Amino acid sequence: TAKQIAIYGKGGIGKSTTTSNISAALVEAGYKVMQFGCDPKADSTNTLRGGEYIPSVLDLLRENARVDAHDAVFQGFKGVYCVEAGGPQPGVGCAGRGIITAVELLKQQNIFEELDLDYVIYDVLGDVVCGGFAVPVREGIAEHVFTISSADFMAIYAANNLFRGIKTYSSKGGALLGGVIANSINSDFHRHIVDDFVERTQTQVVEYIPRSLTVTQAELQGKTTIEAAPNSEQAAIYRRLANKIADHTESKVPSPLDAKELREWSSSWADQLIEIERKTQYVAVDA
Ligand code: ATP
Ligand code: MG
Repeated sequence: TAKQIAIYGKGGIGKSTTTSNISAALVEAGYKVMQFGCDPKADSTNTLRGGEYIPSVLDLLRENARVDAHDAVFQGFKGVYCVEAGGPQPGVGCAGRGIITAVELLKQQNIFEELDLDYVIYDVLGDVVCGGFAVPVREGIAEHVFTISSADFMAIYAANNLFRGIKTYSSKGGALLGGVIANSINSDFHRHIVDDFVERTQTQVVEYIPRSLTVTQAELQGKTTIEAAPNSEQAAIYRRLANKIADHTESKVPSPLDAKELREWSSSWADQLIEIERKTQYVAVDA
């Protein structure tokens, strides 16, 4: 049976970009992979399909009460399978319900077995503030959860919220945490912040991904970095990340910080930032 992996993270942090590069790296390595977009925008798999949108499961269900699940599965780069759960119109209903509906439809029609998949990778917006998005964790749809975070406080705040969700559902058959994918890490300072956070919450960084123009250029061509720039350093980083996720077996319950701890933790970093800025200015004046 397929290994089920969910990638979480706050809005705009790089979930779809990173997930698509992981999927591309795994199909390239010869695995059978499905990327399952769980964002109501239904744009998770775009760069696996030349920038093209595909109809979501919820779109198909709106047109027809009985849907052949095969009609919701599309193929992209090197045969990767692409599915978008879709969602209700903005402001109407619970977006998380789309995920349950879509997964159920594929399960009922035995698509996962039929395609004989090695990996199903869910690209999930959210930080478990809304119960709907907790579905892949709560229902144990995914076995291993990874979260993408930069060194920005809001991204770390979202990751910490996800950890709280994972901890809550861990005793009820929920998915456990594989680790943090650190995105947009372009300095030692960024790296230290994320390292410190994972140490405090008893998890680990799976890979550090720099912010790179190669990614932007690939996206503008409607492609993953793996496809558009296969020989780039950035593609090598995504392949390394994909291998680590493929080999990963032991997920754990994280130790999220409570509100007060998180505040104290972030203000300690704010103090260090002020100190670093002071030193840099001093050097600048001195020079
Ligand atoms: P949403 O929550 O809206 O679905 P997301 O978390 O899926 O967002 P992406 O769409 O993957 O985020 O990325 C947001 C933007 O950041 C995109 O333009 C993407 O190309 C860019 N981006 C993400 N990671 C990197 C990176 N490492 N280097 C350069 N650009 C990046
Ligand atoms: Mg996205």
